[in-house]
Amino acid sequence: MITKIIHEDKIQKAHKYIEKGESFVIVTHVSPDGDAIGSALGLFHFLNAYGKENVSVIVPNDYPNFLKWMPGTKDVTIYEKYPEFSEQLISDADVIFCLDFNDPKRIEKLADPVLKSEARKVLIDHHLHPVEFCNVTMSYPNISSTSEMVFRFICRMGLFDLIDKNAAECIYTGMMTDTGAFTYNSNHPEIYTIIGELIKLGIDKDLIYRRINQVYSEGRLRLMGYVLYEKMKVHHDMQAAMIALSVEELNRFNYQTGDTEGFVNLPLSIEGVSFSVFIREDSDYIKISLRSVGDFPCNEFAAKYFNGGGHKNASGGEFYGTLEDAIKRFEQGLTEFNPNNTEDFIKHK
Ligand code: 5GP
Ligand code: MN
Repeated sequence: MITKIIHEDKIQKAHKYIEKGESFVIVTHVSPDGDAIGSALGLFHFLNAYGKENVSVIVPNDYPNFLKWMPGTKDVTIYEKYPEFSEQLISDADVIFCLDFNDPKRIEKLADPVLKSEARKVLIDHHLHPVEFCNVTMSYPNISSTSEMVFRFICRMGLFDLIDKNAAECIYTGMMTDTGAFTYNSNHPEIYTIIGELIKLGIDKDLIYRRINQVYSEGRLRLMGYVLYEKMKVHHDMQAAMIALSVEELNRFNYQTGDTEGFVNLPLSIEGVSFSVFIREDSDYIKISLRSVGDFPCNEFAAKYFNGGGHKNASGGEFYGTLEDAIKRFEQGLTEFNPNNTEDFIKHK
């Protein structure tokens, strides 16, 4: 048995929207990750199985190739490529599901059309402090992935039988990627009850792991080597590490979207390093990824220095300026927001 975490009234309200609605749009956050695409496509397959023919998944921008094997990926509309078509779908929708984000800012240019649309809106998410912009807000930060929430939502409507193998593969992918293949935020026993059910539906979890983690280009592996050998800066006295890459460096290794996925985690395998930051120059801004182990709240660091947020152990942010200035900002932050002062970090030493 799986405990009831999502409030009953929210389930019922959203269930009614599904019953009555004809056209559905599912949106998720910018730079979609495995959980964003997994939860969106999981819900997409469920709605199809329910008999809804008019269901669209819209993402603000493109997502990495290693997610493009997922069933339903061909039905995903990328707003950046088809803005007018996307806006039409959004304004015509009866119901919009907002998955894996807590603030309209996280869907960037999609925010305007979504907020303007008269559709009923349902948020399903696990990030802290959701902004109230939906008719139903299912926000449960203790659940480790939005995909798991989608599974719970479907089951609570009594519709487990409508989860097919395609939906199960998508849901599993999101659960796996948001927990680093069940290496963090993954101690809740019910995660494994759910995985058991997904396996019974026919998923090959080992194959999904390989499809996500073992499909990289030669360029990515060489870039990783370069990063580890030359670019990783370890601040042993602060239990911290930083990697920064410029556009020029990325181009040297034929960078494709997704090639730096997971780089931010690499320094955490060094004994005594509990806080890691990856800074990547993009064409018009600098993207920051932050990870920690233990109690150091890297989302607070992201909020204070990089206008971002996220989870305690996995967060992100942005910086507008030069790469050098972004690095300086990180270093300044490190002296002010010293991980050594976090109680748990002292324990880790
Ligand atoms: P990643 O480093 O994988 O891009 O992001 C890790 C987590 O940080 C994501 O799950 C997301 O919740 C959060 N995150 C990433 N970028 C931003 C950002 O710019 N703003 C906020 N508020 N959260 C972010
Ligand atoms: Mn997520």
